[in-house]
Amino acid sequence: MHRFIAAESGPHVALTALMHGNEYAGAIVLADLLRTQLRPRRGTLSLIFLNLEAFARFSCETPIRSRFVEEDMNRLWTNRSVSSSQEQRRVHQLLPYIETVDTLLDLHSMLWPGDSLLLAGPSPVGAELAADIGTPPLVVIDGGHMAGPRLIDMPHFTRPHGSARACLLEAGQHWSLDTLDVTRATVNRFLSVTGVTDASPRPVPASRIAHVTHRVLAQTGRFTFTQPYCSGTVIPERNTLIATDGPDEIRTPYDDCMLVMPNFRTARTHTAVRLARFEN
Ligand SMILES: [Zn+2]
Repeated sequence: MHRFIAAESGPHVALTALMHGNEYAGAIVLADLLRTQLRPRRGTLSLIFLNLEAFARFSCETPIRSRFVEEDMNRLWTNRSVSSSQEQRRVHQLLPYIETVDTLLDLHSMLWPGDSLLLAGPSPVGAELAADIGTPPLVVIDGGHMAGPRLIDMPHFTRPHGSARACLLEAGQHWSLDTLDVTRATVNRFLSVTGVTDASPRPVPASRIAHVTHRVLAQTGRFTFTQPYCSGTVIPERNTLIATDGPDEIRTPYDDCMLVMPNFRTARTHTAVRLARFEN
């Protein structure tokens, strides 16, 4: 964790990378910021590499395995300890510090191809932050994971009338150069809109905002999509068959339904896809 404090007071702004050890585009961008010796104009800037132990296990032969060491770190952001895994210990170490952050962007990438997006949890201030960043221009708002709170779902960022804001970037597919470019553009924009850098942010077109309405869980080990859909695909017509799950048919519940991060290797009880409806 790297912290830089300006002479002039101001908010505490943080960027986090490597929540998942194999999603290293964010880490490359943070390493570049360290190399160029970026310093905040005011306030505090923290650059945090979250799961270094998982990243240390990255291998090109088995690139998916280093997502975590023992369990998914992005389901553990609570004070209530549920395990003593390596990830849980790291979260406990970081929690008190994260609770001093005013504005946070958590950098991720996706296993399957898809449009880049900013993900915000249930708090309206998180969605406002995502819209302020404005690049990528797609904002998806969801209610989190049943398996446990993500970093952006921490009470610090989601309590009613709280002012601390956080959102998450899904920059595109893991290990692609486009994903690195998107991450860099989004981080630059984030540093600008939060006042860390001098650049006054250029106006960008209004974001498109979509709310996750359904989380489709696989009920069998045979969940199969009807097409190789990319995340961000919009299905124009209600009641379109998008997948089968054993004997069940999965159909879109409304017109212009967006598929968010379809998972083509879904195990039973895992999320296969999220369905989202546009607000604008
Ligand atoms: Zn991730």
